[in-house]
Amino acid sequence: MTHLCVSIFVEDLAAAHAAGAIAAERGATLLEYRIDRFAGGPEGVTELVQRAPLPCVITCRPDWEGGAYEGDDETRLGLFVAAAEAGAHAIDVELKALERDAAFRARIRAIANHGPKLIVSSHDFQTRPADLQRRIRAMIEEPACDVAKIAWTARSLRDNLEAFELIEHRAKPVIALCMGEEGLASRVLAKKFGAYLTFCGLEENSGTAPGQVSLDTMKRLYRWDALREDTRVYGVIGHPVGHSLSPHIHNAGFEATGFNGVYLPMPIGPEYERFKATVSTWLDHAPLHFRGASVTIPHKDNLLRFVREAGGTIELLADRIGAANTLTVDDQGQLHASNTDYAAALDAVCAASNMKRESLAGRRVAVLGAGGAARAVVAGFAHYGAAVTIFNRTAAKAESLAHDFADATRSVTVGAAEALTDQPFEVYINCTPLGMHPHVDAAPMPTWPDALDAKTVVFDTIYNPARTQWLRSADKRGFKTVSGIEMFVRQAAAQFEAWTGRSAPVDVFTEVIRHRPAP
Ligand code: NAP
Repeated sequence: MTHLCVSIFVEDLAAAHAAGAIAAERGATLLEYRIDRFAGGPEGVTELVQRAPLPCVITCRPDWEGGAYEGDDETRLGLFVAAAEAGAHAIDVELKALERDAAFRARIRAIANHGPKLIVSSHDFQTRPADLQRRIRAMIEEPACDVAKIAWTARSLRDNLEAFELIEHRAKPVIALCMGEEGLASRVLAKKFGAYLTFCGLEENSGTAPGQVSLDTMKRLYRWDALREDTRVYGVIGHPVGHSLSPHIHNAGFEATGFNGVYLPMPIGPEYERFKATVSTWLDHAPLHFRGASVTIPHKDNLLRFVREAGGTIELLADRIGAANTLTVDDQGQLHASNTDYAAALDAVCAASNMKRESLAGRRVAVLGAGGAARAVVAGFAHYGAAVTIFNRTAAKAESLAHDFADATRSVTVGAAEALTDQPFEVYINCTPLGMHPHVDAAPMPTWPDALDAKTVVFDTIYNPARTQWLRSADKRGFKTVSGIEMFVRQAAAQFEAWTGRSAPVDVFTEVIRHRPAP
């Protein structure tokens, strides 16, 4: 069993007990009391341990190992003795302290002989220590050590794999955690790989190490209770990805359908070589069961290149668009890249007008903007025969986009931005950020042409806010309106179905996005 351990900085007894009780109630199985700054002395530690609502680890981390304890080792030993006699589940002592002082080591061994487990720990808050393997060996070879704990700041997502290997090849129970944003996988997947414990904070940002998430986030968002050895791993690859809604959506979908998967943010720096190295190593680590990813800025073209070089398959239109947002990996390791954005945009518009994609042929569609979203929209609508006109602030970008998708059978032209309201269109699609939070008063068009009728479809790809100023003005004119939430949910649903082979719980997705966490 992997413990879900809440780490609590102890300042005074009453607050520590209250925090411990909340952690127990919310489902923690172990507490770590950090007594670095606790002034209660041995008597205080005795009371702390005796009144703990869960088994507890006592840690008194010195400042030279990233903690806040500034006292001497003799005083520290007195606190550990009190913890042991009061029945602490474990004490945590640094490898460095054991290695440098034989007398201290002998006293710690004697304390550990009297009941509590001994966690021997080592930390590097800067990077992966060059002697990481030596440290883990030394911890495991220490006869009194019951659990070896190593924590370092991840340099990239690849460091998580080394943490998993340390846990897998254990001669003793191991805690191997990577700190920082790139180390999240080591914290969440600790259970999948059978680590002794993972740490959480009681609240968001209350953790005792960089990258620690809250107990609620671990249990609700990252599905702690459902994690198993064979759980499949998915993620959103981008830079940055910290505010992505995709983990909320897909994990809620896995939960609602009982699918054995978990979905994580996967930050990867912008260069292709980093993307390739990271994704390759995650794919190669068979016990990880890495089975797919949503891919966002700046890696949508990197995904195509990677899958092409790896001999995988690429969806035809994704290839034409030059961008893919979905990686799917089958059980034989075959890779497939696809683009669920264009289909999501097409279907959002078609659903609003109750028509099939084929009925788009010949319809006049105005696309506002010429960036990444516009590219997928133009490709999709032109593919189904719509007569697309692109309006963009920078005319040259609109020209280039039109050039990429116009041919003998497809009409893609460029309109002058100032002439946008001169002629009527049947469908308007905003692919600019005008009107997006926090600039919610902006709109991509100053007014509507008089000639439009109630069949006109107005689609804003923006999903934050759900109803933009532009959509509200279209509502007032009686047009059919489509929110960016429709597109976002549909592109996520298509990814979900590609990975799980199950129908996506679209209602759950919509609910999550409507109650999204504040940006
Ligand atoms: P992008 O590649 O940066 O393109 C932005 C486009 O908007 C460019 O054509 C740019 O014109 C234009 N633009 C930006 N600021 C402008 C301004 N102040 N005035 C006039 N035009 C302006 O961005 P993107 O990835 O395509 O995203 C665009 C929008 O699509 C975002 O609002 C995003 O929320 C939305 N989106 C939604 C979904 C969904 O699932 N619902 C998916 C993807 C994107 P220039 O060429 O002149 O710079």
